[in-house]
Amino acid sequence: MEILYFFILIFTVLILAYNRAPLLVAMAIMVGLTVGWTELRHLFYVPSWFRFANGIVAVTLIGFSIKPLRRLLISDRVFSLYRKALPRMSETEQEALDAGTVWWDAELFSGRPHWKRLLKTPRPQLNEKEQAFLDGPVEELCRMAEDWDICDKHRKLPASLWSHIREHRMLGMIIPEAYGGLGFSAQGNSAVIMKLSSRNLTTAISVMVPNSLGPAELLLHYGTEDQKNYYLPRLASGEEVPCFALTSPSAGSDAASMNDTGIVCRGTYNGKEVLGLKLNWNKRYITLAPVATVLGLAFKAQDPDGLLGKKVELGITCALIPTRTAGVTIGRRHMPVGAVFQNGPTQGKDVFIPMDWIIGGQDRLGQGWRMLMQSLAAGRAISLPALGTAGGKMCALMSGAYARIRRQFNIPIGNFEGIEEPLARIGGRTYRMDSARLLTLVALDQGERPAVLSAIVKYQLTEGSRQCINDAMDIHGGKGIITGPGNYLAHAYQATPIAITVEGANILTRSLIIFGQGAVRAHPWLLKEMQAAADPRPGARKAFDKVFFSHVGHIITNLVRALLLGLTGSFATRSPVRGPTARYYRQLSRMSAAFAFTSDLVLVILGGRFKFKEKLSGRLADALIHLYLGCAVLKRYEDDGRPEEDLPLVQWAMDDSLYIIQESLRGVLSNFPVPGIGRLVRWFIFPFGASYSQASDRTGKKVARLMQSENDSRDRLVSGVYISDEDDASGRVHRAFNLVLKSAKAESAIRNALNKHVTFANYKELVQKAVETGVITEEQATMVRLAQEASRAVIMVDDFSRGEIERFEETAFRPVVNAAQG
Ligand SMILES: Cc1cc2nc3c(=O)[nH]c(=O)nc-3n(C[C@H](O)[C@H](O)[C@H](O)COP(=O)(O)OP(=O)(O)OC[C@H]3O[C@@H](n4cnc5c(N)ncnc54)[C@H](O)[C@@H]3O)c2cc1C
Repeated sequence: MEILYFFILIFTVLILAYNRAPLLVAMAIMVGLTVGWTELRHLFYVPSWFRFANGIVAVTLIGFSIKPLRRLLISDRVFSLYRKALPRMSETEQEALDAGTVWWDAELFSGRPHWKRLLKTPRPQLNEKEQAFLDGPVEELCRMAEDWDICDKHRKLPASLWSHIREHRMLGMIIPEAYGGLGFSAQGNSAVIMKLSSRNLTTAISVMVPNSLGPAELLLHYGTEDQKNYYLPRLASGEEVPCFALTSPSAGSDAASMNDTGIVCRGTYNGKEVLGLKLNWNKRYITLAPVATVLGLAFKAQDPDGLLGKKVELGITCALIPTRTAGVTIGRRHMPVGAVFQNGPTQGKDVFIPMDWIIGGQDRLGQGWRMLMQSLAAGRAISLPALGTAGGKMCALMSGAYARIRRQFNIPIGNFEGIEEPLARIGGRTYRMDSARLLTLVALDQGERPAVLSAIVKYQLTEGSRQCINDAMDIHGGKGIITGPGNYLAHAYQATPIAITVEGANILTRSLIIFGQGAVRAHPWLLKEMQAAADPRPGARKAFDKVFFSHVGHIITNLVRALLLGLTGSFATRSPVRGPTARYYRQLSRMSAAFAFTSDLVLVILGGRFKFKEKLSGRLADALIHLYLGCAVLKRYEDDGRPEEDLPLVQWAMDDSLYIIQESLRGVLSNFPVPGIGRLVRWFIFPFGASYSQASDRTGKKVARLMQSENDSRDRLVSGVYISDEDDASGRVHRAFNLVLKSAKAESAIRNALNKHVTFANYKELVQKAVETGVITEEQATMVRLAQEASRAVIMVDDFSRGEIERFEETAFRPVVNAAQG
């Protein structure tokens, strides 16, 4: 009996916490229960300790409800400690943290995502104009962009491709139609980059960079009317080729530490003496710089002579400089691996520019870093995620087909379980990457600039692409390794580190930015708490008290939710849908609570020291990333109309994400720097130990199977990539795949009748015999012959004569001809 009352008390408290009952409501309920139980003792046995315990909880809650009392006893003391512990931040760090908006990431930090809100967000869709553009000029550009020719014969983007890009205003996708651009949505922009990336990275990057963070994006948001009217039409038409120079030899990831300067001074411009800046810079790695006509430049402005006022260090500033300006050095090339887009260094020596070359004019002096950080969120969520997804899709398309075409031990290699594993990884990851790409684009098209989510998709989709291409290389064996016009993988494999490194190198993005920025921006209370603690005004303590106790409630609720959901296998929470995906919503709710609690634990216990715990931060980032990816997968499944045949992909992706979330959180707790705490919390969050495991072999088999046949699910998985119908490296694979599938029945009839496998070596003879004995029809025979010839064309790799290699070496590094200007 006593034990029953004990459980009633615990259950009451847990239910109040689980439902995040407001303090006053919880207090009223506990007071009511105390009074009620006291009265009920006249009717049946109610132990006195139980009534007393109810009373204690009620009194504690009353105490917490009396603000002056709780301030005196708790929050004012915490306020003082908090102030001392607040991490010091540089202005640039603060501006980076403040940039962009918060979207679905806030729901994940809340520990209780509002699924209906997610499901209500619009379906991703291209408009008619964008679709026509993809089917017309983009398809045509893909056809022109022969990978081997561009990378190995020309070692630059040929002039004919530049002309096509200009003619169709592809450099102006983000520029509104009013300025002569295409005015595409984020969806449209991403779809173009994805399709181009699936064909040739050099072409894709050359189009992508002017449509990402650079002069056009900065002008659109911050330019003066004169600057917009002058530059935007010229950028849209391709008359101007832009680049943006931020990185210096001394300042890579820590870009704000650049030594490039602009000294405020007087100088001569157009024959008149005007106020301006004398610039000196040394930048490197700048994409399109060797062919750029206008250079966007970030530098540190200084006013040592006090021409503008007393402040000497004015801060990072962005300007647009025509590359023909006296003192500008530009034109030398770096040679990135695997791609031959234009990239190079640039220097400037005492280059004088008038004030109105600053983007946004003189008023924007010193605001460059904020401008860059604000603009980064949008571009970062579009270009590289599109490129990464294209990588995944091409790996899925080509590896599935190749695994079906290539036979060893007389069966297609895709039938071996060892090959099924990497195939399934490619399929599941690609489905997940594309889902995240699409969901993030919907947010952008709704006007969001989601800073944390853009870092997530940049990191995860480029990393995912790397994982896919590694698996694809293994599946292809020697076919992937031998270069030549017949190799459709090698350049993408070589070029993979480019996307990993640019726009925030991935290690830094994972270990410092994603969780670090997410915790401050997307957490429901942390930023408000920090702002209240940093507020020097007298009312700050009061504001802090309110936020602090809300935060405490948030922590308690998430702990209780994580525990109860863990104990009940998540059946205590509801899914917004029925059917096979319902359980995933419930499991994500559970993991969201577990993540939110673990995050708070780390933040509260480590405080400012957390900034230096990158391994913990990286693991928390992994958990946050996979929470987001999981949501994106579930949303996509709904958007696609819940196609049953896509379930293996959904299941693979969801099982994998849940497993990664679990292992990341367990990793945080196992490595928690305060002894004992990690183990204790692990018991609460994972009461039955590790409950998620990686996708099952059965699911993997289904994924691998759907990638090796022609079906709607495979079409959806790879939709949006360029599918060549020509006699080129990838076109040959598509043709062979189609023929192999069509001839499979006939081949198996031959094998059964003649007791021999059909191979390149014997197919002519076997097919002839099979026709003569009536095993197959003449029509089937033709199909088998075509399939064998097409397969042979895929399996063969290139070889070169000594003379060809010598000629190739001679031309490999010949001086650069400026194609864009030529
Ligand atoms: C092909 C290419 C094109 C580019 N295009 C442009 C362009 O158009 N304009 C432009 O301005 N720049 C451009 N860049 C520069 C690019 O943005 C930088 O390369 C990038 O910022 C990284 O700088 P870094 O290469 O000097 O690496 P480093 O900063 O030296 O970093 C080396 C490694 O250390 C890691 N790291 C650094 N700090 C931390 C930290 N605090 N915690 C954990 N890990 C950390 C990084 O993640 C990375 O893995 C380009 C670079 C390349 C290679």
